[in-house]
Amino acid sequence: MKEIVILGAGYAGLRALHVLQKSGADIHITLIDRNSYHYESTSLHEVAAGTQKDEKICYDIKDVVDTKKTTFIQGNVEKIDSDKKEVYVDQQTLPYDYLIVALGFQSESFGIPGVKENSLEMVDVKTADQVHKHIIEQMKQYKETKNEEYLRIVVCGAGFTGIELVGALVEGSKAFADIAGVKPEDIQIYCVEAVDKILPMFSDKLGQYCLKYLDKWDVKLLTGKPIKKVEPGAVVYQNSKDNENDLVALNAKTIIWTTGVSGSHVIGDSGFEERRGRVMVKPNLTDPKHDDVYLLGDVSAVMDPSSNRPYPTTAQIALKMGSYAGKDILNQMKGKPSEPFSFKSLGSVASIGNTHAFGVVGKTEVTAYPASFIKKAIMDRSLFETGGIKEVMSKGRFDLYH
Ligand code: NAD
Repeated sequence: MKEIVILGAGYAGLRALHVLQKSGADIHITLIDRNSYHYESTSLHEVAAGTQKDEKICYDIKDVVDTKKTTFIQGNVEKIDSDKKEVYVDQQTLPYDYLIVALGFQSESFGIPGVKENSLEMVDVKTADQVHKHIIEQMKQYKETKNEEYLRIVVCGAGFTGIELVGALVEGSKAFADIAGVKPEDIQIYCVEAVDKILPMFSDKLGQYCLKYLDKWDVKLLTGKPIKKVEPGAVVYQNSKDNENDLVALNAKTIIWTTGVSGSHVIGDSGFEERRGRVMVKPNLTDPKHDDVYLLGDVSAVMDPSSNRPYPTTAQIALKMGSYAGKDILNQMKGKPSEPFSFKSLGSVASIGNTHAFGVVGKTEVTAYPASFIKKAIMDRSLFETGGIKEVMSKGRFDLYH
């Protein structure tokens, strides 16, 4: 019997688990995650803004574990020794025949001073929930002090995450305003972005759609303003391109850092050849030096032949990688050669609030309600692919059918 260890119960890890559990192969699986639950990382911005309850984006990992084939251990993965074929989890050493590393992402500060100390990150359910609680507390403080900085929320970075968060915050602003005793339009939402053009992967038309709503909602989007440091209660950005000394401090009591992510620190700690926690994997998603170690999702870099750059890390590609790795391990066990991993993106859709979204599906650009509908259908599908029909029935986005 072969021992397969899966690190991480995110999209990739749970998808691989599903394929392996139903295979009927002579295997035992050990699944390890620091939490007892899986969460939809694509919905963290909604928890942070309070527009979605945390329990709605989580389900119990035990729900998808077949105990005849799989042992689930809740613990912290510290290190991998891929020469000894061992994983260190808290005080335990776990040997493996095949390893799937799907440990997800962490926030990337790019070494900018003060980020860790003075801004909030939004990388898992706990931190998203902390963001929400923090905002509520600032609204209460406003009621006491009437200091406008308590009403000001600054989102750092206007990538997919930043823009989706801004949209959700706009939607949450009515609830915030009620607590502060002000009008929703008094809640000031800023987004500070280093480059001039946001979401460059989309056409100008889609970019304009997004900008139109941000403008309508009075979001203060500052582009071409790289953040140079974060101080207690202030984001400091460079105001003019050619003058490094032209720094402006934007005071705010809520500062949320969403300028990008890197793969789990366990990758670097374990001596893999990596860049920002991502390993350039072989065509069958294994480590170049270890055929028995698969790296999936945010810890993996796979070249997109059409752009000659690694594919962006999305839930969609993580799910595909999980399916692929499960099947490839079964092939390896049978002595069959690997087919190279291939990926064709179905497109990407960004939500701005619950009812607005924009993106590309296949080759078609979508906006407004159809895009929002597709976005929710994508979420239901990923719930189905990791959790099955039970999780879709209890956590699915059925408001799209109304
Ligand atoms: P990102 O790297 O896509 O965007 C980060 C943004 O922050 C960029 O626009 C960058 O210019 C800006 N930035 C970086 N440093 C800065 C600085 N010092 N000052 C100001 N701005 C700065 O990161 P993300 O948005 O966290 O997304 C991570 C990955 O997850 C991406 O691959 C993304 O495509 C994916 N994602 C997809 C979806 C979706 O499909 N709906 C949603 C969220 C995230």
